[in-house]
Amino acid sequence: VTSLGLPDHVRACLFDLDGVLTQTASVHATAWKQIFDDVLRQRGERPFDIATDYPRYVDGKPREDGVRSFLASRGIALSERAVRAIGARKNALFTRMLHEQPVATYAGSVRYVHAVRDAHLATAVVSSSRHTGDALEAAGIAELFDVRIDGTVAEQRKLAGKPAPDTYLAAADALHVEPADAVVFEDALAGVEAGRAGHFGYVVGVDRAHQAAALREHGADVVVGDLAQLLAVP
Ligand SMILES: [Mg+2]
Repeated sequence: VTSLGLPDHVRACLFDLDGVLTQTASVHATAWKQIFDDVLRQRGERPFDIATDYPRYVDGKPREDGVRSFLASRGIALSERAVRAIGARKNALFTRMLHEQPVATYAGSVRYVHAVRDAHLATAVVSSSRHTGDALEAAGIAELFDVRIDGTVAEQRKLAGKPAPDTYLAAADALHVEPADAVVFEDALAGVEAGRAGHFGYVVGVDRAHQAAALREHGADVVVGDLAQLLAVP
């Protein structure tokens, strides 16, 4: 599909939500910082760094995996109950922030998804977030996707979260497409890793945080700053 900047045999496009379609990755990062800094301050630890800690340990992962992964990086091991409590605090704060401000999309991404549909390729949203439905509705783009695999579906079906490929594989399966004929679009290191682990036909890294090299290392076949860059210049 040359006009979309993709290999010819591709039949489906699987999009991450936060940071690929909607400008919500920064809202997640801000909420995490506020919650983690409370924990770190009590222990005399340096604060959470959005530029480094967020992409490395938290972005793209299911909530509690993100908590465990980040705290482990600081040598902090907490009980499951404490991990769940931190996750719940972050979720409450994120939900409040989501309602205080409108959900903005990336215009280039929305244009690209329309072009994908015009080319008669199947589409899915694949996100660890349990807020996927709300965010898609709030952004007015819910009807652009044939299939939705979000945090709630993953929990019900006991699918391992990113960087495991399971949620992306479930989306390809729901679209009746082989992974080799599907493309993964991701802005998170854990997400491009999932694309590589699932042997998808192509992995597009979307660089929103000056981490193009890291996205390539973790599994992206190509890295763009905006999905519209993939559209053939007329
Ligand atoms: Mg993302």
